[in-house]
Amino acid sequence: MIEKMELLDVDKLIEEFESMTKDAGNVQRETLKKILEENGCAEYLQNLGLNGRTDPESFKACVPLVTHNDLQPYIQRIVDELRAGFLFANRSSGTTQGKPKFVPFNDELMETTLQIYRTSYAFRTREFPIENGKALQLIYSSKQSKTKGGLIAGTATTNVFRNSQFKNTMKAMQSQCCSPDEVIFGPDFHQSLYCHLLCGMIFREEIQFISSTFSHSIVHAFRTFEQVWEELCADIREGVLTSRITFPSVRSAMAKLLKPNPELADLIHKKCLGLNNWYGLIPELFPNVKYIYGIMTGSMEPYLKKLRHYARDLPLISADYGSSEGWIGANVNPNVPPELATYVVLPDIGYFEFIPLKENVEEAKPVGLTEVKVGEEYEVIITSFAGLYRYRLGDVVKVTGFHNLSPELKFICRRNLMLTINIDKNTEKDLQLAVEAASKLNTEEKLEVLDFSSHVDLSTNPGHYVIFWEISGEVREEVLEECCNCLDRSFVDAGYVSSRKINAIGPLELRVVQRGTFQKILNHYVGLGAALSQFKTPRCVGSTNNEVLQILCNNVVKSYFSTAF
Ligand code: AMP
Repeated sequence: MIEKMELLDVDKLIEEFESMTKDAGNVQRETLKKILEENGCAEYLQNLGLNGRTDPESFKACVPLVTHNDLQPYIQRIVDELRAGFLFANRSSGTTQGKPKFVPFNDELMETTLQIYRTSYAFRTREFPIENGKALQLIYSSKQSKTKGGLIAGTATTNVFRNSQFKNTMKAMQSQCCSPDEVIFGPDFHQSLYCHLLCGMIFREEIQFISSTFSHSIVHAFRTFEQVWEELCADIREGVLTSRITFPSVRSAMAKLLKPNPELADLIHKKCLGLNNWYGLIPELFPNVKYIYGIMTGSMEPYLKKLRHYARDLPLISADYGSSEGWIGANVNPNVPPELATYVVLPDIGYFEFIPLKENVEEAKPVGLTEVKVGEEYEVIITSFAGLYRYRLGDVVKVTGFHNLSPELKFICRRNLMLTINIDKNTEKDLQLAVEAASKLNTEEKLEVLDFSSHVDLSTNPGHYVIFWEISGEVREEVLEECCNCLDRSFVDAGYVSSRKINAIGPLELRVVQRGTFQKILNHYVGLGAALSQFKTPRCVGSTNNEVLQILCNNVVKSYFSTAF
């Protein structure tokens, strides 16, 4: 029986959002005031001589722009000493360097997380209403650890999923996860993933949507489904969980759900056999699913093709824009395809500034939320309720318009993910476009690039770009040679092209890695405390990230050098 529950008032949420964004400038001033009043006694702020002032002008005059590195000594002190009211989040996306970093996380950040969930839900549900049911949420917790000072540290999403408010909000959003907590918080993500899929099968008719934090987890889950579907069917048929699931808490939670159901096992078996290369798998498995939901922009874009393959004609809706440091914007136009998704900044969840990237960044003056210009690119600066002041997030966004007075941002890339040898500059986006162009040559062969990364190899003279590809199946040599040339030609940055022409940059190298290599990278990060929920494949691996580079290099099966120039 489906229990009655208090649902969110969608119209009221939208109304609140509209009136707040109509007054974005004032709301920002008020938000800064609130942050500074609440945290005025922080040693960091006291040392900067704000003396109780809370206006943006004094704030900008006294407080410097900082990076995570600048704050490291302060953060380390909070880590070492016990400070009540602080949790920690391991920020995982410093993946070029490889080491997870600590950033502060507190109750206010939790509240803003739920606020953004509610806001985008309101807009989403207006376009794509869902019924009382369940969601297949492919979410996972990371290992939580205790800092020296006795604080809990885990990834931001783990902090969120563990918070009791999260469950209540999901209920109010008709988005209850179909898996029990023991699965979400299971100690091994492979086992949790298997059980998520099994729960999805058991509740297949109730599932209203499929979601994850970043869409990589959805693609990863259904790729795994392709491997384990027969085992899943066997479990359903017998009502007994495979012996591969070893954790007693997970086993007993699953035992409560699993009953022998040969009809369901037969049905799923038949459906799977009837699919052509798994096209349309999701709507076949879940007849009442309304959409797929998760962050699909930025480094998630390369997975869209596969996601569409599994989803057939189901809408794909990109989730919101934020980071472990704090949320930024909500997707309030859910019917726009993910490639065009933008995020409207919520003016009361933090104080935001933007460094214009058109100018020389070192001299450029940050502008306020309502001062940004349409068409321009900026680096985002966050001042949060959790103790970050004028913090350079490192993300590049483009302003595509305004929703009332609050800007709509398109995510462009992370700033530091740059392939560069001398005067060339290629971003993660440039790499993605090059890989897209080159992998099109593959489609005739019905093969796909499962994942990719890159590295600047300076051990050769001149240095050159190395692109790593994991592909499905065998591809003919000539095709891969052509892919390699196409990659080289697709970096159209003038600095790169001119350097290539005079051989100041050597021929691009395409290295094909063994199947499973990117899974090894994922395992490596999870071992370091990252969560599958927040995992982003490192698209550019620096020499300092030796372990990941080793995983890539040790798994190369073939390599090709470009002859394009
Ligand atoms: P993390 O704190 O490790 O979960 O990573 C946060 C980072 O993920 C952000 O700084 C962005 O670079 C990226 N990110 C978050 N949300 C989005 C989004 N909607 N689109 C693209 N990239 C995103």
